[in-house]
Amino acid sequence: MNNAWLRNSIRDFEPYRVPAINEHTVINANESPYNALDFPFVKAEFLRRLEQTPTYRYPDPFAEELRAALAAYVGCQSQEVLVGNGGDEIINLVMNTFLNPGDTLLVHTPTFDIYGIDASVIGANVVEVPNLPGFRHDRQTFLDKVKELQPKVTVLCNPNNPTGEILPLEYVEDILRASANPVLIDEAYLEFSGQDSIISKLQTYDNLIVLRTLSKAFGMAGLRVGYGVANKAVIDALSLTKLVYNMNVFSQDMALSVMAHRDEVLQHNVPPTIAARTYLMEQLSAIDGVTVYPSVTNFVLVHVTDGAAMIDALQKADICVRFYKAADLQNCIRITVTTQEVMERVVAVFQKEAAHA
Ligand SMILES: *Cc1c(COP(=O)(O)O)cnc(C)c1O
Repeated sequence: MNNAWLRNSIRDFEPYRVPAINEHTVINANESPYNALDFPFVKAEFLRRLEQTPTYRYPDPFAEELRAALAAYVGCQSQEVLVGNGGDEIINLVMNTFLNPGDTLLVHTPTFDIYGIDASVIGANVVEVPNLPGFRHDRQTFLDKVKELQPKVTVLCNPNNPTGEILPLEYVEDILRASANPVLIDEAYLEFSGQDSIISKLQTYDNLIVLRTLSKAFGMAGLRVGYGVANKAVIDALSLTKLVYNMNVFSQDMALSVMAHRDEVLQHNVPPTIAARTYLMEQLSAIDGVTVYPSVTNFVLVHVTDGAAMIDALQKADICVRFYKAADLQNCIRITVTTQEVMERVVAVFQKEAAHA
């Protein structure tokens, strides 16, 4: 293929490569250890729905029943919800809807890659505000940049992936007030945080867009169900470029089945994860040479003196975690919090490595 065929903005892109995983314990992608189909009441509801879902019919373009269920869950109106093929689609729609080539996207770093990638495809300018040492969000600089640049889109990942930090709602409101343009607040991990969602401020800020997902706390990453929450006019704008049939019928059926039992599922999935997270953070903090960054999510970021050696030791113990190449995350490892048993195995590897060092 002639490279000149590619649009200019993507000529330098590296192909998206997921390295082969040979380990059996995979805790590198913040996936839940709990299968939604293992809940008998969810499975029964899903099968009941499937029987009424002919495969030859197109899905409902706006997944009306599902958006109503999600609206009831987060406490807003149906028209204030847009269901997407994963939260990733909502990010894509936000960028496609608001960014022109040359416009500015403001993000903090390190954070989720997808915002910058999607904005770069459009040819937008990505401005990054680095964290303070210790991976804490640089609140003042980020706020100042919003005021100074008036970015076309501002993104705040809250709680942040991969640092695990959450910022208080008052700060999020400072950002919303400072910007005259859309602000995306990514709350993919909110359910693990114990903090309220900024969705409660939907009526106050017409520039607020909140991203949520069923991939993390609800254990539905494979089904690809995420959603955006914003006022109706913004939801209508985001819908302009959406693929008409973005949500397949199976995912809608499954998401509806989980939402019908959302409290039981959350009650089952979240408290054990939080207990295992507390255990992991406490145990790793006690080890010499390991720095643990406080997390309110289902993952914990740690810094070790020799990241490559630790990855090697974890691999030998049949455990795959997330390791980073980026300069600001050197020797950092992100561990997904799953079950107590798996966290104990992780801790044992860290302790053994520390004893050898
Ligand atoms: C996982 C994640 C998402 C959304 O994931 P989907 O599976 O596409 O719903 C969004 N933002 C962050 C920061 C995430 O980690």
